[in-house]
Amino acid sequence: MLVLLAGGAGYIGSHTAVQLLDAGHDVVIVDNYSNSSPEAVKRIAEITGRPVRAYEADVKDRDAVSRIMQENSIDCVIHFAGLKAVGESVRKPIEYYRNNIDTTLTLLECMNEHGVRNIVFSSSATVYGEENPYPYIETMRRGSCSNPYGWTKYMMEQILEDAAKADPELSVVLLRYFNPIGAHASGRIGEDPQGIPNNLMPYVSQVAVGRRDHLTVFGNDYPTPDGTCRRDYIHVMDLADGHVKAVEFAARNKGTEVFNLGTGTPYSVVEIVEAFERNSGVPVKYEFGPRRDGDLAEFWANADKAREVLGWTASRTLDEMCRDSWNWQKQNPEGYGN
Ligand code: NAD
Ligand code: UDP
Repeated sequence: MLVLLAGGAGYIGSHTAVQLLDAGHDVVIVDNYSNSSPEAVKRIAEITGRPVRAYEADVKDRDAVSRIMQENSIDCVIHFAGLKAVGESVRKPIEYYRNNIDTTLTLLECMNEHGVRNIVFSSSATVYGEENPYPYIETMRRGSCSNPYGWTKYMMEQILEDAAKADPELSVVLLRYFNPIGAHASGRIGEDPQGIPNNLMPYVSQVAVGRRDHLTVFGNDYPTPDGTCRRDYIHVMDLADGHVKAVEFAARNKGTEVFNLGTGTPYSVVEIVEAFERNSGVPVKYEFGPRRDGDLAEFWANADKAREVLGWTASRTLDEMCRDSWNWQKQNPEGYGN
């Protein structure tokens, strides 16, 4: 199949591109590089030994996306092209709603125009909101989100579901990611946040490589075994494999299906730091600080549906996640900017 990766130069998109190519599919990338680098595209080609067609364009630009679909006979779209920083979304809600909603509508309109029937969407565990008990199961109602980023995911899921209800030919797969970390085992592609990282693992690895002095652990008074928050961390390569299964599933089905992509096992912030130190051999200085607004004490996935329906399970261990994150960071201390 030929898969259009909207936002395919980013962290999850680049790893998914590698796994799709290795599984024998073809990919076309469209990205405006607002949070990524064309270097990632070069490295996807280098890792896989396959040429990669990439367009620099904004996915909100209807003419550009339509032209790309005209030039390429796309079987399935994967929509990664979102803004994703929770704190920034609170400060710049309009930018987040504009980018995330508009890219979704533009993709759906162009798919309709060009007869593309399958779309896989990057959703998030954040749509379970604050009310649901964990582990989260797909049948739970979406909850109320604590920030504009979460609401964009909530709304985009609704838009896609409604589109599939109205068009019996459309297949929509909503993938709710838990906490992706790690990198390709080669260390050639990985997570390259701009500025100060918001997420835990890039912060930890930047402390280890000497770019940051210490990690602040946000809160140690939560009702968890060691007082720090627990999350369901998943290796980005397992997540990428989930997309290959989702694309193949979308081609065989119609309507909307939702899948959690997580491991089902939570780890605390301190456990992550200790696992990272063990696997890198580098100490990571940390201090306890106040809780971060909007953080939940803990949550994790029930990933049974993905196993039963997609035939997918996360197989890579926490040690592999830490080893691969470190391998990427130490080979690329400045990310792709190096
Ligand atoms: P990322 O920022 O690395 O990748 C997103 C890519 O989309 C970037 O390359 C960016 O340049 C591109 N992009 C954004 N807006 C665009 C636009 N208008 N036109 C063209 N390109 C555009 O992020 P990621 O971690 O790879 O996440 C991919 C998707 O998964 C996002 O939608 C994100 O919200 C979602 N997600 C991520 C996580 C996570 O922890 N990384 C968790 C849950 C969901
Ligand atoms: N975290 C932390 N210090 C940091 C970044 C994150 O203690 O500098 C904690 C955060 O409070 C949460 C966990 O690490 O409990 C994972 O946070 P991240 O932002 O990576 O993912 P989230 O689950 O918020 O999407």
